[in-house]
Amino acid sequence: MTCKDNRREGRLYQYSPWKNMQRLKLINANGSSICIKDQNIEWIGAAGSEPSEFKEGCLSVDCKGKIVIPGLIDCHTHLAFAGWRADEFCMKTQGASYQEIAARGGGIMSTVRKTREASLPELAARAEGFLKEMCALGVTTVEVKSGYGLTLKDELKILRAYRELQGKTALELIPTFLGAHTIPPEYERQREKYVALVIEEMIPAVAEEKLAVFCDVFVEEMAFTVSEAEKILLAAQKHGLRSKVHADQLKRSGGTELAAKLNAVSADHLEYASGVDFKKLADSGCVAVLLPFASLYLKKQYADGRKMKDCGVTVAVATDFNPGSAPSYHLPAALLLACLGSGLTPSEALSAATSGAAKAVAAEGRLGEIRVGAQADLAIIEAESIDQWIYHLTANRCMTTIKKGKIIFSKEDN
Ligand SMILES: [Zn+2]
Repeated sequence: MTCKDNRREGRLYQYSPWKNMQRLKLINANGSSICIKDQNIEWIGAAGSEPSEFKEGCLSVDCKGKIVIPGLIDCHTHLAFAGWRADEFCMKTQGASYQEIAARGGGIMSTVRKTREASLPELAARAEGFLKEMCALGVTTVEVKSGYGLTLKDELKILRAYRELQGKTALELIPTFLGAHTIPPEYERQREKYVALVIEEMIPAVAEEKLAVFCDVFVEEMAFTVSEAEKILLAAQKHGLRSKVHADQLKRSGGTELAAKLNAVSADHLEYASGVDFKKLADSGCVAVLLPFASLYLKKQYADGRKMKDCGVTVAVATDFNPGSAPSYHLPAALLLACLGSGLTPSEALSAATSGAAKAVAAEGRLGEIRVGAQADLAIIEAESIDQWIYHLTANRCMTTIKKGKIIFSKEDN
């Protein structure tokens, strides 16, 4: 396919020849054809028997020998931050723990310091570069958290950077307020004052500007207690922000149970959650989001995805992209780890990054599925099967990424 992009006009990912194309046809994927009209999937059936309006005058992409999957959804990222932490990675390779690194002034606070110093345009430009590479992997939707500002001004700066990016990138961004990521050092001896700042100033300001869809809290010994998290999440719910919880990552501390109790959209991490917790998630309909890169980089146990599935929990997989515990946005690699570490099959891993992830961002039905009426977010993968794609990890097997019926990445153009 030959597309010219008009990057120089500042509209990254807009391919001018197809800009006004109303119809797109993907043919020969397992003998099938997918017809797209405007933003949605209009028809699915045997190749060659498409409705007449798709016979000619529409862009046709031959997918022979490839698979077509729903556009991938990375439903848990900390996308906007300044600096990296490769020095800490080096310490970790020599045995230092997350807690030891934090105690030496490193960890999350080193990212907070750099992010506070960065300007909104700097944060947005950097995140835009990450999104471009995610798009090339077949990702079409990304949940994006704040949480490296930890002041009213800096949390708003991060969320406003996402809003600015939403007008520039073809990917869909779903913003989450994570002011309760950790207690900043200036509030170390008066943590109740920081919780009050989050509840009384940050949440109302975020809601007023409609800067986030969800509110997330990191429930962990070194972050927030269950009762602090409950107060914050209930205050956010009153302002229309639905709940998410970073739960039971480093030890079992009650975060998963709280997520189920508050009807949170998702409970994320769950490395130390147990069967009792999974039962509660299944009953409440809360999605379990597996973040296997964090287990890999922290050398911790993986969440038991197999047991979650067997308990009837909806499971999602995401990258947790952040500069400390998961410095990669390679979602297909995270799917491989979800198979190896959490016991999912390749097909289950794919559905965890599509339909499961759609539910984790409250977009089920619209995103994450290939069916008539769903939004036409798709990726064409050069592999003979889902098993082959996930098992044979390469730099990138995505040939084409489609968002709302438009081609937003084509490998042949790169
Ligand atoms: Zn996270």
